[in-house]
Amino acid sequence: MLTRDFLVVGNGIAGLSFALEAAAHGDVIVVTKRSREESNTKYAQGGIAAVLDKDDFFDKHVQDTLVAGAGMNHTRAVEQCVRDAPGRIEMLQGFGARFDCAHDGDPGSDGNHASVAPELDLHLEGGHSARRIVHTGDMTGREVERALVEAINGAKNIRVLDEHMSIDLITLPTHGGPGVCAGAYVFNVDQGKVETVLARATVLATGGAGKVYLYTTNPDVATGDGVARAFRAGAEVANMEFYQFHPTCLFHPQAKNFLISEALRGEGAILRRLDGTPFMKEYDARAELARRDIVARAIDHEMKRSGAEHVLLDITHKGGDFVKEHFPGIYAQCMGFGIDITREPIPVVPAAHYLCGGMTTDLDGLTTMPGLWAIGECAHTGLHGANRLASNSLLEGMVFAHANR
Ligand SMILES: Cc1cc2nc3c(=O)[nH]c(=O)nc-3n(C[C@H](O)[C@H](O)[C@H](O)COP(=O)(O)OP(=O)(O)OC[C@H]3O[C@@H](n4cnc5c(N)ncnc54)[C@H](O)[C@@H]3O)c2cc1C
Repeated sequence: MLTRDFLVVGNGIAGLSFALEAAAHGDVIVVTKRSREESNTKYAQGGIAAVLDKDDFFDKHVQDTLVAGAGMNHTRAVEQCVRDAPGRIEMLQGFGARFDCAHDGDPGSDGNHASVAPELDLHLEGGHSARRIVHTGDMTGREVERALVEAINGAKNIRVLDEHMSIDLITLPTHGGPGVCAGAYVFNVDQGKVETVLARATVLATGGAGKVYLYTTNPDVATGDGVARAFRAGAEVANMEFYQFHPTCLFHPQAKNFLISEALRGEGAILRRLDGTPFMKEYDARAELARRDIVARAIDHEMKRSGAEHVLLDITHKGGDFVKEHFPGIYAQCMGFGIDITREPIPVVPAAHYLCGGMTTDLDGLTTMPGLWAIGECAHTGLHGANRLASNSLLEGMVFAHANR
């Protein structure tokens, strides 16, 4: 039996950033069912939304989020996320994450002028009314996970148990309510035995549930475990019907869950039928820059109407240098499948991508069960409403991990 102040289940952006902050207040154990590097976070491509441009405003980011969520968002959660975003970006940089810069800054070392801080390069994505996506090429999640894992590996007060899968929550009975969470039973995969971890605070950060669906952009770990554990223990779960489909997942017999980032459409990629005709303007005046639910539905309609197995996403007109510089990861992955995206369009289909619902929490991440917190994709904070705005989810993981510390 292990006893700790904090038990964190999950090692994505939410779990790791919470662990790093909580370690200042007590000892932390992080359990993860695979290796500490494997998570949805690692596969995030586009980036993290934050109002950083001088021509952008918090109100615009709030409004974009409410429009995407069909007004079913909780406004206070949206405000909290949007206003806290610049601080969380800075915090990630403090943990060592390196994001792309528009210019490298100037230390002012000649003594003749003031120093200028490096300015982050901001991408535009569907549904956003301004450039506000902080990114590391098109492999933002990999950089974030790298930085957080390195920080965790060197942290005092934190022990990470890889290959340890939480099975059930441990609850103590109370009069009336669902009980108090006191930790979790955890299956040690290597030793084949169940261990008991008791904690003053149990934090579920288990990510999404894409693997429940046949076609998904999510990796194998995304099986909705945290939501299932909490539901079984009696905590409230909400909005599970709002599963977001990403419009553009690579369609290829050997490709498993490979997402073609929204940022391609942000940078001018065009959706075409198999005969080469563009179709998005027939569905929405914003064409390729419409929100992802609109684009996903349009593609689905086109496929059903024509009987095609996929549609095409075409960025060839931007030129080879531009494509390789902005989308090196997608370029390399597609080349691996024999598709040169600088010369030919990419076959794409919509796929299950993001769980908008989850465990009901307050603005500090507390669930309806005392002793149990939920952060990241497994939580329903009210930020997303019926539909997530692109690049708001890495942000949500950090914001509520910080609020919960
Ligand atoms: C391909 C792709 C691209 C994306 N691009 C973006 C983007 O550009 N911007 C953005 O904001 N969001 C993006 N997202 C969504 C975003 O990556 C996720 O919402 C976010 O990373 C979730 O973080 P998390 O910390 O909540 O969970 P995760 O990163 O999924 O981590 C959860 C962890 O919990 C562990 N776990 C699960 N169950 C158990 C269990 N029973 N016991 C122990 N451990 C368990 C898993 O192993 C996993 O490591 C993308 C997602 C995908 C799949």
